[in-house]
Amino acid sequence: MTDNIKGKIVIITGASSGMGEATARDLAAKGAKVALGARRADRLEALVNDIKAAGGEAIAVATDVTKLEDVQALVKAAQDAFGGVDVVFNNAGLMPLSPLDSLKIDEWNQMIDVNMKGTLYGIAAVLPIFKAQKSGHVINVSSVYGHKTVATGAVYCATKHAVRSLSEGLRQEVKDYNVRVTIISPGAVNTELTSHISEEGLGDAVRDVVSKIGVPASTMADMVAFAISQPANVDVSEILFRPTVQP
Ligand code: NDP
Repeated sequence: MTDNIKGKIVIITGASSGMGEATARDLAAKGAKVALGARRADRLEALVNDIKAAGGEAIAVATDVTKLEDVQALVKAAQDAFGGVDVVFNNAGLMPLSPLDSLKIDEWNQMIDVNMKGTLYGIAAVLPIFKAQKSGHVINVSSVYGHKTVATGAVYCATKHAVRSLSEGLRQEVKDYNVRVTIISPGAVNTELTSHISEEGLGDAVRDVVSKIGVPASTMADMVAFAISQPANVDVSEILFRPTVQP
């Protein structure tokens, strides 16, 4: 079903590392044209060079998903470079875990802004295009923590529950103009995500667990490719995956 990926124009946020980067490499290798957004422009440029050297098509745009105009500029750059947009993969996210009584309010705001509002801005930037062309695919990243809530994860879990909720609302609203919506909810994946945990003692403990049980970032790429490669009348509404040993 790789043919359903070949030629597709795919926007990927959070493409500078982890699952976004792995998905960009994989989709480009399968013939998609990828438009990559994140704040670390140097990482994106290096990734674009790698993809092009391997025969793929990619562009990079420095993007802060907490700014609607940045996400709109990323989408516009994809339209200008490739002639349209078929898929948006709203993947950018942060997980600075901490107990609420540590009052890390800046980190709460960051998670709400990136994980939740960033996803909404990705939707806002493509929805008029998808509605006009009567096709498109929105893929949003939630988490196992979008299905349950854990201590030190109250805010993170809340943002990931919100991603699932807004995705399901979106799916019901856009089905009549043939737009697919997919939620992908990973368990532990070996990426840089845990590097932002500033809570004393917690970061090392979480990093230790994830480094032992986490699955590779390419697992997400496989899931995204599966969802995109279905026939247009098949909406993979949700995928939940985790390391076999994760509770
Ligand atoms: P990484 O930390 O490797 O990647 C996160 C990406 O998000 C980076 O490319 C980062 O780029 C980007 N990002 C962060 N803030 C912004 C911003 N303001 N604007 C644009 N991009 C931003 O982690 P993962 O690959 O693991 O994370 C990908 C997604 O998967 C996240 O939504 C995460 O919550 C989710 N997830 C991860 C799990 C895991 O175990 N790893 C489990 C469940 C869900 P830059 O810093 O350059 O802007």
